[in-house]
Amino acid sequence: MTALRPILIVEDDAALRATLAEQIMLAGGFHAVEAGTAAEAAAKLDAGDARYDAILLDIGLPDGCGREFCAKLRRDGKRMPVIMLTGADAERDVVRGLDAGANDYVAKPFRAGELLARVRAQLRVFDNSEDAVFTVGPYVFRPAAKLLLEPARNRKVRLTDKETNILKFLYRAAGKPVPRQVLLNGVWGYNSSITTHTLETHIYRLRQKIEADPSRTRLLLTSAGGYSLDAQAGQEAAAAAA
Ligand code: CA
Repeated sequence: MTALRPILIVEDDAALRATLAEQIMLAGGFHAVEAGTAAEAAAKLDAGDARYDAILLDIGLPDGCGREFCAKLRRDGKRMPVIMLTGADAERDVVRGLDAGANDYVAKPFRAGELLARVRAQLRVFDNSEDAVFTVGPYVFRPAAKLLLEPARNRKVRLTDKETNILKFLYRAAGKPVPRQVLLNGVWGYNSSITTHTLETHIYRLRQKIEADPSRTRLLLTSAGGYSLDAQAGQEAAAAAA
């Protein structure tokens, strides 16, 4: 199963919102969630263990202002990329939006391709930042801290540099199998003399740390000459138990 990255679209223009959601889904790798008001967006963000990898935020909402919404998100410690959707010629909106903690903006009318390019660019920056947080099975993965947190069992798993990089590389492949040599080059670099045996050793240790039963792997799978990460494995069970 592919781990789709959830994007929250906050826009009161229903037609524009639906088009955006459709384009985002069609782009692949994303799952779009829609909110028509600031209140609806706040409710979605606060719901249970909801997590959004990026937010597209209209400035003019019926029950509030996108800038203030963004400023509040930042005050609440939410760090995901926020891209403002601004009216045409709204230069002051843009400056104030960025001041409020937005990462980027696009002026209406915009092409979906341009917006998606900006979303991807912001996600790339974010994924490499100290603030990046990913969900991997029952874990919250913080690459910068080389940590996996398992909230349900109040447990911390410490990872080595290589284990962190292996997990990050597989996560970015979004569930697709990564051939051993590609993973090796991605984690150790093209010029390394490391063999796939070394990679297999690291995978073995990583499985001992993250799999509930390392003899029956559910997260880090062997597939098609390489490995894949099923970041959604075990989440249904965790949700049912909650
Ligand atoms: Ca609006």
